[in-house]
Amino acid sequence: MTGPIPTLGNPRNTIEILNKYRFVFQKKYGQNFLIDTHVLEKIIKAADITEQDYVVEIGPGIGTMTQYLASSAAGVTAIEIDRALIPILHDTLQEYKNVDIINEDVLKVDLGKIADEKNNGRPVKVVANLPYYITTPIIMGLFEKHVPVSSITVMVQKEVADRMQAGPGTKDYGALSLAVQYYALPYIAANVPPNCFMPRPGVGSAVIRLDVYEHPPVHAEDEALLFGMIRASFNQRRKTLQNGLSHVSELGISKELTVRILEELGLPASVRGEALTLEQFVAFANQAARYLKT
Ligand code: SAM
Repeated sequence: MTGPIPTLGNPRNTIEILNKYRFVFQKKYGQNFLIDTHVLEKIIKAADITEQDYVVEIGPGIGTMTQYLASSAAGVTAIEIDRALIPILHDTLQEYKNVDIINEDVLKVDLGKIADEKNNGRPVKVVANLPYYITTPIIMGLFEKHVPVSSITVMVQKEVADRMQAGPGTKDYGALSLAVQYYALPYIAANVPPNCFMPRPGVGSAVIRLDVYEHPPVHAEDEALLFGMIRASFNQRRKTLQNGLSHVSELGISKELTVRILEELGLPASVRGEALTLEQFVAFANQAARYLKT
C-alpha cells in the first residue's frame, strides 16, 4: 500500500458517514456496504493490485473499497449509479488524487473507452462488490464487448460463484458456467458471510477471481451459435441434446444433424447437454456451423 491509509471499512466510520449525509439505502440498487477490513484486504490480495495496475470499480458505494484500491493501484475509475452517493464519495476520497468518479449506470458506460483513455488501451483490472441484481449482465457485458480486462475480482452471491466455477456432472453446471469458462479461468478466493455487510444481505457471498484469457484455449467459429446452443440445452436440462436443440427452431439444428455430429465426435446419440464439457460444446458448435454453411 502506498497511498493514504483507508479509514472506512470500520463499521463506526461507515455509520458516521451515513449519518453525516443522512444516507438512505436504496434496495433497488443492491446496496450492501462492506464493513469488514479483513474481507477488504482479502479482495485486494485476491485481485493482486500493484502500482502498475489501473482499476475500474463498479458500484463504489461510500468509497470503502475505493480507498483500498486507490492506495494500491496507479489509478481507479469508480462508476456509481446512485446520485446521492456522489457527494459522499467526493468527501471520503478527497485524500486520494488518483480516483475518477463517474455517476452513471455501468451498463451504459463504454468501459473500453476508459481503458483506452486511462490506461493507453492496456488491459485494466475490474474489482467490485457487485450489485447482485445485475451480476450476469455486467460480467457477460465485459466479455462479449471484448473490453480489455486482464482480471475481474468480484463479490457475488455465493450460489452464483459456485455456478461460475462448476464443471459437467454437477448440479450447479449450466449456461453461466460455460459462458464464464469460455472467456476466463475462475477461482473462488473467499466465502463471505452476511455479517460483513451493512445492511446484511439475505444470501451468502463469495469473492471470485476470473482470469480473462488473452488467447482462449478453445475457439468457437460462431460464438452466437455456441451460446444459443448452450442456452437451448440448459433450458431443457433433462432432455437429450437432440430434443433440446431441435426445440429451438432459430438454431436450425435438426435432430438428424445433432445425431450425425454426436457420432462424429464419438458421443452417444442420447447424451444430455449437461454432460458435455466446454470443449465438446465448442467442437459440436464448430461442426454445426460448417454443416449449416453448406
Ligand atoms: N463497493 C461498496 C462496498 O463494498 O461497500 C458498495 C457495494 S454495493 C453491493 C453495490 C453498489 O453498486 C452500490 O453502491 C449501488 O448503488 C451500486 N450500483 C447498483 N447498480 C448500479 C449500476 N447499474 N451501475 C453502477 N453502480 C450501481
